Amino acid sequence: MDRPNLTVLTGAHATRILFSGKQAVGVEIERKGERQRIEAEREIVLSGGAINSPQLLQLSGVGSKQALAQHGIAQVADLPGVGQNLQDHLDVTVMVRDRSKQAIGVAPGFLPKALAGLWQYWRKREGFLSSNVAETGGFARLSPQSALPEIQFHFLPTYLRNHGRDLAPGYGATLHMCQLRPKSRGFIALKSADPLTAPAIQPNYLSHADDWDEMLRGLKLARRIFEADAFRDIHGGEVAPGAGVRSDQDLRAYIRRSAESIYHPVGSCKMGHDDMAVVDAQLRVHGLSGLRVADASIMPTVIGGNTNAPCMVIGQKCARAILSSHNLQ
Ligand SMILES: Cc1cc2nc3c(=O)[nH]c(=O)nc-3n(C[C@H](O)[C@H](O)[C@H](O)COP(=O)(O)OP(=O)(O)OC[C@H]3O[C@@H](n4cnc5c(N)ncnc54)[C@H](O)[C@@H]3O)c2cc1C
Repeated sequence: MDRPNLTVLTGAHATRILFSGKQAVGVEIERKGERQRIEAEREIVLSGGAINSPQLLQLSGVGSKQALAQHGIAQVADLPGVGQNLQDHLDVTVMVRDRSKQAIGVAPGFLPKALAGLWQYWRKREGFLSSNVAETGGFARLSPQSALPEIQFHFLPTYLRNHGRDLAPGYGATLHMCQLRPKSRGFIALKSADPLTAPAIQPNYLSHADDWDEMLRGLKLARRIFEADAFRDIHGGEVAPGAGVRSDQDLRAYIRRSAESIYHPVGSCKMGHDDMAVVDAQLRVHGLSGLRVADASIMPTVIGGNTNAPCMVIGQKCARAILSSHNLQ
């Protein structure tokens, strides 16, 4: 923040990228209820994330002619891949009751531990409140022949329902299982030409049959892990999917009912050279000058793990590409 060549504007909503012909020349923002234009000296880097970057490109006239015409937006560049190829990690959980009551609980008996935890955290930044809750993880192959793990686990020593929004009483443990390399593809589409209206997010989870197969096998493996000897002193009965849910048909119904995003949307402005690619290997938007995209949206396929670190690498790669294309390094 001390750098003389950096200005950060908070509370600013980018509403449009401005073009002169095929050259990106500025950004329009809305701040404190007013529209302002910011001119670029050299380049614009769009980093709105996998949902906003394709939205902002489309609002600015970059996308398929048909999608833009629906909202009366004049086309600047014909890139039908903008907003397509959306991928995400879909997650499903197995939850068991913790009869040892060692878990982080929502129960009157947990109150002394909670108060002690507050004290511990306040004094030394230690104890259960210093935990990120998703304390343990793992990757698994679904068969010995698999070249790469198909499944990732996050283990939580507590119940976690509906992204943590619903409090679940009692003591429990949750094993999250997500499929790492889904084949299903969704899209981001404009709902309106108003930049303050959120776009449609259509992930099309489980639209590919292979994804169903891996989710089902991963769920069975998660169950087997909880049934292992190491959990004998803890396992006080399965809460979800529930002991009665045994057949593939019932497990599929459970997945359909309870699977949720583990927040890794990527791919909606993919890098590449085919007809659906949006940026090149230097993250420059095809067919335009002065515009790069640097965020999760440029991944052609979702990485087989958490997405934050790769996004930071994408940012670093972009910085290097800019420096080198302006002979600054
Ligand atoms: C709840 C949650 C938990 C997660 N946990 C993990 C984890 O444990 N490990 C991990 O590796 N990954 C995790 N992720 C995923 C990770 O955070 C993302 O993959 C990563 O942050 C994506 O980076 P990005 O730069 O593409 O987009 P973002 O980090 O989403 O950055 C986009 C930025 O653009 C801003 N923006 C959007 N539209 C506009 C606009 N029109 N004008 C101005 N600004 C705009 C947004 O406010 C945001 O700050 C988690 C994500 C979520 C939501």
